[in-house]
Amino acid sequence: MSENIVFIGVGNMGNPMACNLKKAGKKIKVFDVSKEMLNKAIQKGLEVEEKFEDLINSETSIVITMLPEGKNSKDVYLKPNGILDKVSSDCLLIDCSTIDISTSKEIGDEANKKGIKMIDAPVSGGVMGAQNATLNIMVGGAKEAFEKASPILKLMGKNIYHAGNIGSGNGAKICNNMSLGITMIAASESLMLAKRLNIDIKKVHEIMKNASGNSWPISVYPPLPGLIDGTPSNNNYKPGFSAGMMNKDLKLANECAEEVNATTPLGKMALDIYSKFCEDGNGTKDFSAISKVIGGDAWDYPID
Ligand code: NAD
Repeated sequence: MSENIVFIGVGNMGNPMACNLKKAGKKIKVFDVSKEMLNKAIQKGLEVEEKFEDLINSETSIVITMLPEGKNSKDVYLKPNGILDKVSSDCLLIDCSTIDISTSKEIGDEANKKGIKMIDAPVSGGVMGAQNATLNIMVGGAKEAFEKASPILKLMGKNIYHAGNIGSGNGAKICNNMSLGITMIAASESLMLAKRLNIDIKKVHEIMKNASGNSWPISVYPPLPGLIDGTPSNNNYKPGFSAGMMNKDLKLANECAEEVNATTPLGKMALDIYSKFCEDGNGTKDFSAISKVIGGDAWDYPID
């Protein structure tokens, strides 16, 4: 029987992920609370549903969500007449949003009570990874649910990992993004230092890509323009992955760290730097725009 997929949240990530499922020949309907995002989905040839009430029925076999925060996931899954009230017990639920572990577990437990299989499956790899179906997908949930979801996840990602029980996908993702926030700041500091030292940034970038100072922000997503085509730094820091989202993930990391008494001084410092950046009105810029505040008066790149 062919799958009937519903995809909720077609923003920066959800849109290309849904497009990859359609490209693979899957029957898919998408929904977003933003009219602008629905229009973008229509432009990409996706079938959209404008009303949440009409989105899901007993024929729906898979629901995938790609939403900003835990409160959004909680809302769509647990509200009266939300996803859990509408789907049949053989529907598979996949929450790809990066959210706090406790909300992920709470939704998973409610699904479990109704005999519905659910996984948390946050992703890494950015918008380019979503477009190219090369995402890393970290799954939390029962092995059976992981195996059922794997063929669909493989249409959107390259590496699919089973991290453990429900919530573990988000645990792994939060650890990953704490590192990402720290290394984006580190890459910005190094490149801006090179600029102050009057060394050609392109040369320093090339060296770091091949030397021990390499990191994902250096090799794939450099925070300064003119180094790698197609990155947000070359597009006036249009996200991409917004600074607001990074701030959210660093908050999640620091909250978890506190709960389990982990020592994360750089994670805390990165949170302070991103929080200030967002408070100053930069939350909707790409997170690589943090290089602007690292650069201080050495910054001479155009940015709105
Ligand atoms: P986004 O803001 O571009 O997209 C989220 C979409 O969800 C928006 O279009 C919004 O209108 C929609 N939405 C919000 N509440 C909704 C609701 N109740 N019902 C339906 N739609 C709703 O965000 P994004 O960058 O696509 O990120 C989505 C998730 O993926 C986040 O949790 C983020 O942390 C994670 N993530 C993002 C990236 C990235 O590079 N952008 C990379 C990895 C993981």
